[in-house]
Amino acid sequence: MDLEKHDFELDDLVTRIKENDHRLVALQVPEGLKMQALEMMDAIEDESAAKVILAADPCYGACDLVHDKMKMMGVELVAHMGHSQMNIDSGMPTHFIPVTYEGDPKIDPVIPILMEHKAIAEERLTSAGEEIDLTDEEAVERFVDAVGRVAPLTGTKLGLVGSIQHLHLLFDYKKRFESAGFEVEIPVGGARLTFPGQVLGCNYSGDDPSIGHYLFLGSGDFHPIGLVMHTGKPLALLDPYTGDASEMSFSRIERLLRQRMGLIFAVDNAKSFGILIGEKPGQMRRNLAIRMKNLLKKHGKKGYLLAMDHVGPDLIDFYPVDAFVNTACPRIAIDDAVKYAKPLITPFELEVSLGEKNWENGYQFDEIP
Ligand code: SF4
Repeated sequence: MDLEKHDFELDDLVTRIKENDHRLVALQVPEGLKMQALEMMDAIEDESAAKVILAADPCYGACDLVHDKMKMMGVELVAHMGHSQMNIDSGMPTHFIPVTYEGDPKIDPVIPILMEHKAIAEERLTSAGEEIDLTDEEAVERFVDAVGRVAPLTGTKLGLVGSIQHLHLLFDYKKRFESAGFEVEIPVGGARLTFPGQVLGCNYSGDDPSIGHYLFLGSGDFHPIGLVMHTGKPLALLDPYTGDASEMSFSRIERLLRQRMGLIFAVDNAKSFGILIGEKPGQMRRNLAIRMKNLLKKHGKKGYLLAMDHVGPDLIDFYPVDAFVNTACPRIAIDDAVKYAKPLITPFELEVSLGEKNWENGYQFDEIP
């Protein structure tokens, strides 16, 4: 990671600590910044009278705010770095520290990919207009998006999104892509998202039917996989760290969907399920878990509610159940399924397996609103 180009913005935190005369502060940083955490602790302690405790457990999002355990330790303020505030209350005063990256890649390498994706979106939109001239089968064949739905497009705009450290660049990039001939929208999502163009691995609520394809400004495939599974739309990637352009291929999504379908078949004869409830404040979906338990009972199957902070194979594989349903972070079932000895499925997938929902209407990504 190129730390020189990152801005960790500790000044506002130090000011808040001094103003409130805090003496014990917890610092929570994402996994990628743990190596720099001790340096940051030194900087905060040098500038203020506070002592700093690193909340050293793994942290992957603002869903995972430090809460009651730090309160029991007498911590007065939690400084949470690298994620933005969600629609949750952790019960602790929390100061969010933005991290921004100044990398500014050229758009030229991604233009050919975007042109292809725009053509796919135009084809889908045009096909939708020709619906009456087609048989039902032809219509479905031509309108379906990457996850098997009849694409509900009303436009072919380019949706511009990014991961949090690059969001400050989006409005400048909007102008650049408009100059290159695209109609661009920076989607604004629901209460779990703080900034225009923001996406999370569990929330793509800014999507709307006027957007025909996407550009993701960021690195890695975590957000891109979720975005395509949620929207079914073509997605190009521009990596600010390397300047590389690429796309999330539909064949990759298709492989994932085949895997999901395989897991649904695999739980067909399962009689007992562990239903995972996440204890992290922004992952806790108790009502959904109880609904799954009731649904299993309705179908003559047994569901055991298992609450846990971290979810991992070593922590659940040994339970004498046939399969697991995950209501904690949705990405555990999607991204980590192969690590588990028994099938680990999403609530939607359980509903499909029980015949309560139809896969034929398209795959439904497990979103936390
Ligand atoms: S994807 Fe998972 S870890 Fe990331 S914010 Fe959502 S619930 Fe949290």
